[in-house]
Amino acid sequence: MSRTSKDGARRGYAATRGRGQARSAGFRCRHCGATVGPILYGGHHRNHCPYCLYSTHVDSSRMGDRASICGGLMEPIGAFTRPKGEHVIVHRCVTCGFERYNRIAGDDDFEKVLALPVVPQRGGPGEPAA
Ligand SMILES: [Zn+2]
Ligand SMILES: [Zn+2]
Repeated sequence: MSRTSKDGARRGYAATRGRGQARSAGFRCRHCGATVGPILYGGHHRNHCPYCLYSTHVDSSRMGDRASICGGLMEPIGAFTRPKGEHVIVHRCVTCGFERYNRIAGDDDFEKVLALPVVPQRGGPGEPAA
C-alpha cells in the first residue's frame, strides 16, 4: 500500500478557508473517494465517511487519539441501537481486525446505516457499554 502524506496538493482551497480547524477539517474518503467536508451537525468527530460509512484505523484505544500506526481501512460491518435510541456503527479494520464503535453523525447516509446488519450491542475499546 502506498501512502501519500496528507495529499498536500489537493488542499489548496481548504487552506484558504478553514482557519484553525485542523481537527475537524474534511478528508478524502479512501473507500469511495468522496471529499468529505467538516461535520455540519449531529456530532463533532468526523471519523467516517457519511456516504459509504467506511472509516480509517487511526485511533488506537480512545476516540481521536490518533495513536494507531495501522492506517487500515475500516469496514462498517454492522450497527446497533443503544437504549437511548442512539445508532452506533461497528467498524472493523480490514488490515488488523480491530473493531470499534462509532456513533453516527447527523449527516450520515441513514439509509446505509439501516442497511447494515444488526449486531448485538457490545462494549468495546473506548466505548464502555452504556
Ligand atoms: Zn466513502
Ligand atoms: Zn488496523
